[in-house]
Parts: sequence; C-alpha cells; structure tokens
Amino acid sequence: MNKSPMDYLPLFFDLKGQQCLIVGGGDVAYRKADLLVRAGAKLRVVSPEICDALNKLVEAVSGEYYQKRYDSTLLADMTLVISATDDVDINQQVSIDARVNGLPVNVVDNAGLSNFIVPAIVDRSPIMIAVSSGGKSPILVRLLRGKIESMIPATYGLLCDLVGRYRDQVKSRFSSIEQRRSFWEIVLQGPISEMVFAGKDEKAEDMLKEAIASSDDNASGVGEVYLVGGGPGDPDLLTFKALRLMQQADVVVYDRLVSTGVVDLCRRDAERIYVGKARSNHAVPQEEINDLLVRLANAGKRVLRLKGGDPFIFGRGGEEIEQLMVQGIPFQVVPGITSASGCAAYAGIPLTHRDYAQSVRFVTGHLKDDSCNLPWHEMVSGHQTIVIYMGLITFELICENLISHGMDSEMPVALVEKGTLPEQRVVTGTLSTISSIAEKAEIKPPALVIVGEVVKLREKLNWYGAT
Ligand code: SAH
Repeated sequence: MNKSPMDYLPLFFDLKGQQCLIVGGGDVAYRKADLLVRAGAKLRVVSPEICDALNKLVEAVSGEYYQKRYDSTLLADMTLVISATDDVDINQQVSIDARVNGLPVNVVDNAGLSNFIVPAIVDRSPIMIAVSSGGKSPILVRLLRGKIESMIPATYGLLCDLVGRYRDQVKSRFSSIEQRRSFWEIVLQGPISEMVFAGKDEKAEDMLKEAIASSDDNASGVGEVYLVGGGPGDPDLLTFKALRLMQQADVVVYDRLVSTGVVDLCRRDAERIYVGKARSNHAVPQEEINDLLVRLANAGKRVLRLKGGDPFIFGRGGEEIEQLMVQGIPFQVVPGITSASGCAAYAGIPLTHRDYAQSVRFVTGHLKDDSCNLPWHEMVSGHQTIVIYMGLITFELICENLISHGMDSEMPVALVEKGTLPEQRVVTGTLSTISSIAEKAEIKPPALVIVGEVVKLREKLNWYGAT
C-alpha cells in the first residue's frame, strides 16, 4: 500500500550519560537544557552571557559552562547539539559544523537549519507522547497537546510501571498471544487501572496478582460502578474524569436530569438504561436501581451511574453506593458541578459576596407530606443565601413561610429554569412577587430557587446569553 510521505520520523533518543551541547544562554536555551537534563544528558553550555535559571541548572547538574562565543572545538565528544541563540550567523555555523561532524542538530525555530526537531511532549513517564507539526503551527500543537493532557490521567505512568513489572509473569502464565492480549485489555480498562488512577497502588497490585493467579484465565469476574456527577446540563462542565469513565463504560444508567448533550458523550455502543424519576412518579424505585447496579456489576460490566449535578448533593448517591459497599463491588464516585453552582454562575448571581452573604445554604423544597419541615428560623437569619432544590411545586408555601418567620418580603429571589443550557431562563422578583411572576412566565422544572441579597448582583453581572 502506498502511504503518504512523512516530513519527520518520530524517534525517542536515549541520552542518559551523553554529552549534549547547548549554544545560547537565554530563556529558550534554559528550557531546552532543562529537557536534556530530564532525559539524563550531561550538559555543556556555551554563551558569552547566561541567565540565572540556566546558570543554576548547570551548577545543579555539575555541567560545563563556557563563557565565550561558540567555536567548533566545543563539539568534540558531543552526542547532540541544540542552538538557541538569536544570532543568525552563529546558528548557521553551529548547524554546518554539527552536520560536518555527523551530529544531530536542532536550531530552535528554524527547521531549515535542523536535522531533528524537538516535539511538544505529554510526559507520563514511562509513557511519552510527542506532538509536532513539523514547525508549521506551534499553536495548533499546543492546543492538541492540551487535549491529550486532559484525556490522559496523570497516573498513567504509574499504571504503565505496574503492568511493566508483571509483563514477564503474564507471559509465562498465558501461553497464547491472544490470551495475553485479552488479559491485558481487561486489566488496562477495568477496575485494576481505576484503582491506580484513584491512588490505591497497593490494592491495584494485589488485584493484579490475584487476576494473574486466578485459574479461569480471566480478570473480568466482577465489574465496577462509576457514580458520576454529570453536572447541571452544559456538557462542557463535565470533569475530565467523568468524561473518561463515560467513554469506557459498558452500560449507562442515567436519570431524567442528565442533559441529552451529556448522555451523547457516553461511549456510542454502551447500553443505555433510563431510570428517570419525575416528582411523585418514581419511574424506577430506588431499591430497584440499587439492585440493578449490583446485578450489572456482578455480570462483569463497567457500569456508569450517571446523575445530574453532583451525586452527593440531593442525589441519593449515598444510598446507591451503600449497597455496593455491602456487596463488595468496586466503585468510585466522581463529583459533578451541582446545579446551585452551575445555575448561579450562568445567571450572574455569586452565591456569596463580602457585602451580602457570608454563607450559603442548600435546602430541598421537596417537603415530606407537604409539611413545612425546613429550619425556617435559621433560614431567615441575615447575610446568607438560600438555594432551594426541587422547590418549584412548594415554592409559594416556602415564600410564605420565610415571610411569616421574619424575612423581609422585599428580599430578592431568582428562579433559574434549565440552568447552564442554551434554553436557560431566569426570572427575578421578591418573596412577595416571585410566585405570580413565575406563574406568568410558566417556569417549569428543572428549576432552582435562589433567595438572598446576592440576587441583586445579577443586574450588573448577567453575562450568559445576554445580548
Ligand atoms: N444532584 C443534583 C440535584 C438533584 S435534585 C445536583 O447536584 O444538582 C433535582 C433538582 O436540582 C431539581 O429539582 C432542580 O431544583 C435542580 N436542578 C438540577 N439541574 C438543574 C438545572 N439545569 N437548572 C435548574 N435546576 C436544576
């Protein structure tokens, strides 16, 4: 097959103990020198002047510093050369001399004078990812590198070290290449790697040993549950961890409050199970959801339990993992942006403010048997913001109670409908007017109520969707 030609061949260079020459003494020279040192090279720097950082680095690694202009005698015994000066003639001379001596040379920002380029790197040693545009667009490379950085957990290196230590053992344990491949695929995408990502290296190692030793040649026995906060609606508000788990789960069990944009980011071929609840109309009772998670995990699945906002804020996350804990099923909890933070930010209402509110209180408006069992006296004390979740139905009752317990009937109130989504609507009023304003505007769930002086700030700070 005819493949398209490559401008460069990416290679990884072992520089441990090798002498490398840096020509130049400024910031750029320092950054290149730092890279070389990280790769274990011995440093030689030549430049009439040297910046502090580079000087310190040379001293710290007992490198050589020649305080003079470059000349070709300095190339003796070198393995690699980088020229980082702003003097065109010197750069050119270094390039010519290095080539004559058969040395790899890089002149910073000058591909024409170089025979190798230094790529942008994502360092998860021993995993190393190099990105390059062959000098055509450094900004594009930076953006791409940012994307890769965000996709790969910082602990990937640890995972690689761990599995590297057991490579030989696995080789002798499984005779066929297919078995080994499938073993590693399961380990690298399942609970063992998740343990490493969660910082539980020892547990991960124990599990790996057990998986190697277990006679069924299969590490997939029990699956895992990821209890993930999907945030208030805008998919861009997901955490990196949430996204990663969403893209590896086999089954997604999700609620009504998880926005379509967020569900769409789950792995395409993952099975989707909707267990949405509407108020007083529990589509799937909580106990059944708990059982479902256990059943799926016991069948070896990686189960994503995806919830709106944060799973530990009015999300029943605690109840769901309690049962997993009892059954010994591995799980992890990923926090999400709770709707109070999301709605407040996108409505231009800071929840605290030095002049208006020193504390914020999250309460549920879902009153049991419609009785008023909220701590009204505490709620009416000054300098706080109250955020009411699930408060749309009982909203009028809540306003009345706040007034009758002593809150100023002129206290500003905001209602945020479908917060953080393009359809977001916000209406504001006071404790005495907001009910009729909301009714006229036909505000529908999901909606969040914010009560407090901070609501006034919206006049100045409204930014989202403002025209
Ligand atoms: N665990 C969720 C809350 C679940 S309770 C969280 O941390 O956000 C459900 C309530 O959250 C809804 O009744 C509503 O009051 C609020 N809510 C969730 N998403 C919302 C959104 N996009 N806009 C407004 N309110 C929202």
